[in-house]
Amino acid sequence: MVRKLVIEENDNVTVVKGVEIDSDRKQSLIPSVEKNPACPLCRLNLKNLSYTDILIIGQFVDENGKMMPREDTRLCNRQFGIVKHLIRKAQTCRLLPRPKDWPEAAGTYDKLNSYYMYPYKRRDDMFWTVKDKYWK
Ligand SMILES: [Zn+2]
Repeated sequence: MVRKLVIEENDNVTVVKGVEIDSDRKQSLIPSVEKNPACPLCRLNLKNLSYTDILIIGQFVDENGKMMPREDTRLCNRQFGIVKHLIRKAQTCRLLPRPKDWPEAAGTYDKLNSYYMYPYKRRDDMFWTVKDKYWK
């Protein structure tokens, strides 16, 4: 809703009113929950989200670096799984803050910035834990 200020002066009385006008960007507004009850990401029709889109996926991370529960984010099952995976990837690359109980990876690569390659390949999947005995 956009309002335009209209100032009317009659004799010694000045009236300032806000008149509602249609926005010229009305077609790019986010549809409300009443019109479309789908989850936020499905409602926006966001496809091909990347782990580098931290302004979007960072909204689903709380101050401790953990993903917020589904009841709070209101994401559907499919999008919740996708966003959970993307958050883990972004935290692996230190694009998002990590939780305190994040497992320490063996070796020195963990201190360096590292990014995943595109197009996505199975080998780019993260190792959740690398045991010391496998690290040489
Ligand atoms: Zn959804």
